Amino acid sequence: MSTQKRDLLRKGNSELAGLGIFVWSIPALVAKSDKFGRIKTCPNAGICAALCYARTGRYTFRPVVNAHTKNLEEYMSDPFAWKQKLQNELKAKKFRPTGEAHSFDWETRQDFDWWVTSGGKAVRIHDAGDFFSYRYLLDWLDIAENNPNILFYTYSKQVSDFKKANKEGKIPKNFIVIFSMGGKQDELIDTSQDRHDDIFPNLQVLTAAGYEDQEKSDLMAALLPTNKIGIVANNIPRLLRLQGTKSFSLAQKNGLKAA
Ligand code: SF4
Repeated sequence: MSTQKRDLLRKGNSELAGLGIFVWSIPALVAKSDKFGRIKTCPNAGICAALCYARTGRYTFRPVVNAHTKNLEEYMSDPFAWKQKLQNELKAKKFRPTGEAHSFDWETRQDFDWWVTSGGKAVRIHDAGDFFSYRYLLDWLDIAENNPNILFYTYSKQVSDFKKANKEGKIPKNFIVIFSMGGKQDELIDTSQDRHDDIFPNLQVLTAAGYEDQEKSDLMAALLPTNKIGIVANNIPRLLRLQGTKSFSLAQKNGLKAA
């Protein structure tokens, strides 16, 4: 058995790393674990499961699948120890604010001026997977609460769980959730109030629907001063053909085949 120390958070791709963003991921949709069997990691996935970028390309490479599965197993084996380990990891200097303001060439929401001006670091939870249990969500919210200088952000289809946590006052001010359309709980998203995203086949459809494109920076989904985040679907020809002209929310509502 390997005793090598393994960090739980990894540096994102070069764009994310340049912005001081660290990433945590688990397998998309379903994990197959030798230890725990089959685990549904996106319980409220709807039409998104058929269009999921995180079930294609590099996400399916063995080392990536293994690393994501290991993350999930480490949490499930002992959530308390996992939390302690992550808390310790977040004490490292690399997670401290630089003290120099971020210079974005796009407008950011005012309630996060404190983070922008401090040159804060960020953790993006899940570039694949979702909050598969309420307990797991609460563990992340706790971690965020204990690290108030770090921005935690995530896309999620666990709308009712987040609304419950919000009602219970458990979402700290440094935690931003973007509800993601294309799931079983789309109808619980108040599109006029809740921060949410929809995925469009191209920029024209996105703009016509009144959404703001977040292409320029991964942080835009969290920090743009709007609650309507638009994402242009990844350039994966097979998935683009399947999606056709619809947004994820429309595909969820009417099905992929309907015009
Ligand atoms: S919830 Fe996200 S990761 Fe899970 S299947 Fe849907 S798009 Fe993929």
